[in-house]
Amino acid sequence: MKRLLLALITLHIGSALHAQPADLILRNGKVVLVDKNFSVVESMAIRDGRVQAVGLSADIIKLGNRKTRVIDLQGKMVLPGLIDSHVHATGASMTEAQHEIPPMENIADVQAYIRTRAKVVPKGEWIRLSQVFITRLKEQRYPSRAELDAATPEHPVLFRTGPDGSANSLALKEAGIDKAFAAKHPENVMVNPTTGEPTGILRQASRVIRAKPNSTQKPIELAARDKRLTKLFADYNRRGITGVIDRNCGSSARDQYERLLDARQLTVRVRVSRGVSAGGEVAAIEKRLDDIAADPYFKKPAPRFGVIGVKVFQDGGMLTGSALFQKPWGKSKIYGIKDPEYRGMQYVKEARLEELARACVQRGLAFTAHCQGDAATTTLARVYARINKDLPVAPSRSSITHSSFMTEEAIRLAGEVGFGIDLQPAWLYQDGFTLQSHFGKERLKYFIPLKSLFKAGVKAGGGSDHMQRIGPLRSVNPYDPFLGMWITLTRKARWLDEPIHPEQALNRQEMIRYYTINNAWLMRAEKEIGSLEPGKRADFIIIDRNLLTCKVDKVKTTQVLSTWLDGVQVK
Ligand SMILES: [Zn+2]
Repeated sequence: MKRLLLALITLHIGSALHAQPADLILRNGKVVLVDKNFSVVESMAIRDGRVQAVGLSADIIKLGNRKTRVIDLQGKMVLPGLIDSHVHATGASMTEAQHEIPPMENIADVQAYIRTRAKVVPKGEWIRLSQVFITRLKEQRYPSRAELDAATPEHPVLFRTGPDGSANSLALKEAGIDKAFAAKHPENVMVNPTTGEPTGILRQASRVIRAKPNSTQKPIELAARDKRLTKLFADYNRRGITGVIDRNCGSSARDQYERLLDARQLTVRVRVSRGVSAGGEVAAIEKRLDDIAADPYFKKPAPRFGVIGVKVFQDGGMLTGSALFQKPWGKSKIYGIKDPEYRGMQYVKEARLEELARACVQRGLAFTAHCQGDAATTTLARVYARINKDLPVAPSRSSITHSSFMTEEAIRLAGEVGFGIDLQPAWLYQDGFTLQSHFGKERLKYFIPLKSLFKAGVKAGGGSDHMQRIGPLRSVNPYDPFLGMWITLTRKARWLDEPIHPEQALNRQEMIRYYTINNAWLMRAEKEIGSLEPGKRADFIIIDRNLLTCKVDKVKTTQVLSTWLDGVQVK
């Protein structure tokens, strides 16, 4: 029956395009279409950068002529190009523009990095580390003043995570932070309770200390920036990524994407959520939204670059103890929480959130807000439900970003209203250990609740929140989509033996939809990409194993043999 059905599909397309020979034919493989029925066919023909026909090898080969390139897949699998729903590509490409920064998993790694920098940076000049999350260090704490001194006593060193930091003795001295200063600024400078000496730990560090640029830092020209971004996109292609959404795009980043588009150097389809500040007068915000809606790449996106909408930040972070929860966080040494009633930080209140989301939906802009805690996600879900009563939200492709902790209500509303969820599975792997030891298992019931979202028919899309460095696994956060897929199947976290709520694991088909068609929907481009149905753009990858049947641990080491955009090989 399946063979007959496929033969009919092929004949239908074949007769329509009979006179036009295919440019490229892939045969004898397993082409995963990601269509409604999740069909897998042997063969695919491509013409003018689009899928011309799919079906049996014996039928599809008839679409070729002497000039047609034919690739014998020898049983290999073809998938639609993978899409990452959340990156910060322009910034991430620049992280190591000055010098290499290795991944750091424990305090010994932090010390080793400082030692290598101390050999290059002249004595007396500052060494600064930023965004090394202490919740991702094995010790789950700041490196102490003594540990930083041990790495180098001859350079001032400042280690930053979020607003807080840790400094060595020379940095404290240069900033004038001594016992007397500490006594005057007890909220900023942590001290040893017996001696009163500063421990090196600083809260809201920028109020009391600033690292000065060192003489090894050089200014970087636009051309060099573009070269780095191109290099990052080539690496995305190597891991099978053909589309991304930039989830906090500023003006210079927007212009950089346009520059690469004009130079025909975009090997990844880019859609952007423009970052806007949620504060100030509503009229001023509406003016900014009008400007974004007037962007020619919003009004008429180019195939490889377009603006989809805006992003704001509703709450804080789950790695820094500031995500907004319905129940109190609970006292914590790691997160520095002393108030038993503390529930987190809400930067945009519900009424303002509703004004912003409504103004976006009215203009056809996709609204999204960074929401980590379950109170934040549920608040935005209710906001969308209220707007949806008189203004349909789904066509705008508005969404909740991160949405790490949800509630039954938020999941249900996402299905009913039709807003999307942009969610990062790598955080389960990297941060599950710290989160579970703090919150306990029960509070993680709707942590990255993928199965519940799929069951409710929600368009959930997989993303990395890639913000630093080039390299699929050495980056922060890791952007390897096959690692992400493996996490959706296993719910395994590093340093934990048991999976986290395995009932929330996806099956193989859902896992593939999560990184393809669902993200195409979030990009507002599901009619063009995200599946390999005839007429769509031929964005696809050839991989070395059968992702539908291979052993689960083999999923994360899948090799991408080649990556194609518009029917042209880019890797
Ligand atoms: Zn982000």
